[in-house]
Amino acid sequence: MKQQYKSYDEGCAFLEECVQKYPDLITVENIGTTWENRPILLATISLHVAYANLKPALLYTGTAHAREWIGHELGIDFIDYILSNHQNNPEILETLTHNTLYLVPCLNPDGFEYSRKHFSFWRKNRRDNGDGTFGVDLNRNFSVGYNKSTFTAGNTYSGPHPFSEPETLAIKKFVDSHANITLALDYHSQGNVFFPAHKFNHESEIEGTDMNTLCANMNYHIHKITGREYGINRGKPPTKLISGSGREYYYEQGILAIVVEVGTRNIPDYIQNMSESVNENIPALLYALGEAKSYGETAPKRVSNFHIDSFSSNSCSLKWEYDSNPSVYFKIYRNLNNKMSCNHSSLIATTCNMEFIDENLKSGTMYFYYIRAINKLSKTKSPFAPKVKLKTLLGDAEFSRTIFPHASDIGYVAEKSPEANHGHFGVQSLKVGVSQGRGISYGIMRFDLSSIPEDAIILETKVSLYPLNRVSAKIEKYGEWSLSIINQDSISNIRDFEQVHQAKHIKTIGGSIPSEKLTQGIWSHWDCNEFERKIIQSQLKRQSMILKLEGPTVLPIGRDSQLMVFDLGYGNAGGGLHYRPSIDIKYTVPSKEISIELQNSMTIAPEEIVHDSMACGFNKDDEKIYAYMSFDLSKLPDPDESIITDAWIEITNTSTVKKTVDIRYNVEFVDLEEFSYQDILERERIEFIGYEVSSAELGKKKKHHFLFDHYSKLALEEKQRLGEEAKFVIHPTSTLCRDHLIKWSHKGKKAAKLMVKYIKRRKHPLPSVVNLQCKVENKLVKLTWDKIEDNDLVGYYVVRNRWHTPKSPFDGVKLYAGLDNYTFDNFGSTKMDKYFAVFTYDNVPNFSQASEIQYKAK
Ligand SMILES: [Zn+2]
Repeated sequence: MKQQYKSYDEGCAFLEECVQKYPDLITVENIGTTWENRPILLATISLHVAYANLKPALLYTGTAHAREWIGHELGIDFIDYILSNHQNNPEILETLTHNTLYLVPCLNPDGFEYSRKHFSFWRKNRRDNGDGTFGVDLNRNFSVGYNKSTFTAGNTYSGPHPFSEPETLAIKKFVDSHANITLALDYHSQGNVFFPAHKFNHESEIEGTDMNTLCANMNYHIHKITGREYGINRGKPPTKLISGSGREYYYEQGILAIVVEVGTRNIPDYIQNMSESVNENIPALLYALGEAKSYGETAPKRVSNFHIDSFSSNSCSLKWEYDSNPSVYFKIYRNLNNKMSCNHSSLIATTCNMEFIDENLKSGTMYFYYIRAINKLSKTKSPFAPKVKLKTLLGDAEFSRTIFPHASDIGYVAEKSPEANHGHFGVQSLKVGVSQGRGISYGIMRFDLSSIPEDAIILETKVSLYPLNRVSAKIEKYGEWSLSIINQDSISNIRDFEQVHQAKHIKTIGGSIPSEKLTQGIWSHWDCNEFERKIIQSQLKRQSMILKLEGPTVLPIGRDSQLMVFDLGYGNAGGGLHYRPSIDIKYTVPSKEISIELQNSMTIAPEEIVHDSMACGFNKDDEKIYAYMSFDLSKLPDPDESIITDAWIEITNTSTVKKTVDIRYNVEFVDLEEFSYQDILERERIEFIGYEVSSAELGKKKKHHFLFDHYSKLALEEKQRLGEEAKFVIHPTSTLCRDHLIKWSHKGKKAAKLMVKYIKRRKHPLPSVVNLQCKVENKLVKLTWDKIEDNDLVGYYVVRNRWHTPKSPFDGVKLYAGLDNYTFDNFGSTKMDKYFAVFTYDNVPNFSQASEIQYKAK
């Protein structure tokens, strides 16, 4: 099992060979000597390597933990790949022209050799602690957050003082003396996940978008090779900072630093798993190396104040600021999920302007926007501005709900813990899959649907779960996780394993997610198709729905666990309320129909006006004869409380038609006060209603429907609001036909009616709050505002953003939603400037314009 892996000596020998073979590309130096007298080798790779230190650089470190062999293996193979392909791969050559790679394949040679020869699961270095124990955890021995421990036998013993170990001291000295390092990747195992650094001050960092996007773009390359998607987990507050780790030390020096946890085992099957891990990481590493210069001194400056200026249900206007610079342009990227790649696959605009309008968006949908500046000549990219997040407004007839299960209605039930299952609800996390200890384990959750009307028509449904960690999912590419709607009659107790196990599935929803795509730190979504939505719709009359989440149910020989862990949002193992599972439902309701009788009608010809008659065509002198009709709109519901979903005019013609005559008739929505023939000729047209009908069509059908378009429906509502009639003219056109009249009404029969379908729904948001203030109280920022007195108010929605004014309630961290007229910025820092916005919302919900305030730290 271990034989195919390279030893430390073999790695060193390989590096020396490379220096012989490619002296212009690689140098190798010894940056320190271990307790057991092994050299710690660092390779420098760049085109014209003598100038390497003048270029922006990526620092690679591997195998700081002895048993995590991927670092050494990948480091050596990456060097081999670059050197042996640089001549025939222009991308490598280009990358090495502008960037430098510093690579330490193994930061812990003594521990690595001990792990290879003696004890596979050894983690620390080989310091003699003098008390019969050996080893210091190198990744606890750096200075940032260093936590002195005395338990020398422990796996995470941090050593007598920061940098007490030759290995950590060596890399510290190297980093301190190489200010050109802009990126640091520290390779560990296991979990298939990126862990970017953080500063643990409970606020987003200016480099947050950079680090997440670097990981997402690396993920793009990984996915191309193996279909795998790594997690991107930036460790959110209040997660505990790892004390004394290299990553946080590098980050403190201004380097973007990321730990990459590869694989699902420390020393996996070489041919099946390790080679796959290496193969998928090489293109990702090459990409990362090329990004070093984006963070170097010659890179363009980051765009500032990238923000939403305005948005609607289908468009968004973005603005930003940049010091005037003719050699710079901007690239804008858009994604539908957080932590997705920003490259050609998501690029939506290239512009020199300082604003961009994105159109053709979907209503009620979340979008993520990114921007970077590019130098026209050097093609060097800038760092990213902090991302902008938006949820477009709902469509006219749409409502939406985000529903979270109550704490007592979500948990997991495991086969081998019948006594304990009851206690799994509302605490800790969802553990789903199979393990030797627990047997089969299901997640189960009940959603309260009572806030959605029973007759709702569901337009979109998305279930979202947040995978927490993959440490219990130990087998590569094994198992799928799927969600099913459960027949509620087949289960009475969701905390009973047997009942959950036996419960009847109505339907699996949204497809299943295979293990390699369940990624920690990135939301998993299950989207429902129409058939699945109809089943959810059928659950509305029960006012609740039960979903069961299941993974694999059997384990291969010799394996002990394949459990995926999802955040509950409750309990101290979770990330808090923002990480609760949820179901998003967009819906509409059935419309009501009103039929409005004709109010007035006229036939308006040059020679006379005939009341209570509708005829239209041409007279003997080839002059047009118009029909006029109007409708009283007072029967329609209040336009502020309703939406017209459909409107049409139905007209019945009574006269016979000559089929050979080519006349066409238009219905026009008009503004008309006087009715002389001259007034008709000079009429002000609002819009055409529907399409023309021809004489021939009139012969075929007695009834004709003229449909209102979107604009005409709005015009109809406007007429109603003003208390005016809706007026229409039927207007004939012809190329050569003459002397022909169509009678639409006859002998006092009413020829036309206006049909309107509508739903009850508030159209406009409530007013914004006034008198928004912030001050520090009990070491927290407290926001207060004046109450809005309105029966339709459902609540106030408060959001925080450290970088720009949040114009959308979703552009930042949600602090509060409810009816109080104050909130605290819990977990936030009082020592940093930031922006807050408060929105009011009704039951649609329509959100008001933002009331904004900037908090200035002293
Ligand atoms: Zn590690």
